[in-house]
Amino acid sequence: MKIESAIFRTSALNLEACPTSRLPEFAFVGRSNVGKSSLINMLTGKKQLAKTSATAGKTRLINFFEINHAWNLVDLPGYGYAKVSKDQRDAFNEHVSGYLTRRENLKTIFVLVDSRLEPLGGDLAFVEWLEYCNLPYSIVFTKTDRTSDTTVKNHAKQFLQELATIGIEPGNVYSCSAKTNAGRSQVLNHIQKQLPKKSKQKDKGPTIQLGWMKKR
Ligand code: GDP
Repeated sequence: MKIESAIFRTSALNLEACPTSRLPEFAFVGRSNVGKSSLINMLTGKKQLAKTSATAGKTRLINFFEINHAWNLVDLPGYGYAKVSKDQRDAFNEHVSGYLTRRENLKTIFVLVDSRLEPLGGDLAFVEWLEYCNLPYSIVFTKTDRTSDTTVKNHAKQFLQELATIGIEPGNVYSCSAKTNAGRSQVLNHIQKQLPKKSKQKDKGPTIQLGWMKKR
């Protein structure tokens, strides 16, 4: 998929404040510092689209970007940040879960997991919750350039094994590096496949045949 345009539309605190849109939507979520902003910038080819390295937990809004006038990319607040009170964390969970469970045009939730780390309880619990709610998600291991291929593979294997022990088998698993662009085409293809097919009418040639064009 070629990214022709990527426009910031708005930020929303909760589902009620989200913009009305019929475009298919793809959300990105993960722990703070997992590399979400970098991945969004890498996928869209826009270095400043999502802000990188903001103070952990500072970006608590749901950010909407319209891509190619064809789909929405949604940057969800990072979970698991420590610098906020329990009340703030509860409000965050309520807002994000409200969006995830009730947004009708949401096609895939990309759950970002840091490939440098052994499986974290918070990430596993989040995937378990998505399964419980029957929501469509894919896992993306991030920052693969920061560690060896073997470590990435081992951490991914451990993560999937942990899920398997509770009977969960994620459909799509990707690994990406915002630095080398690895995994970019795979994630964009995943999105492309879920967009409505464009009419191929134009390529088919004339749709009306004149009488004299028919074979005898
Ligand atoms: P966010 O908090 O999840 O949005 O994470 P950021 O995108 O701000 O990334 C956190 C830190 O990790 C920043 O210093 C990024 O430059 C770095 N980072 C993110 N993704 C990658 C990656 O794929 N490769 C490398 N080498 N660094 C990355």
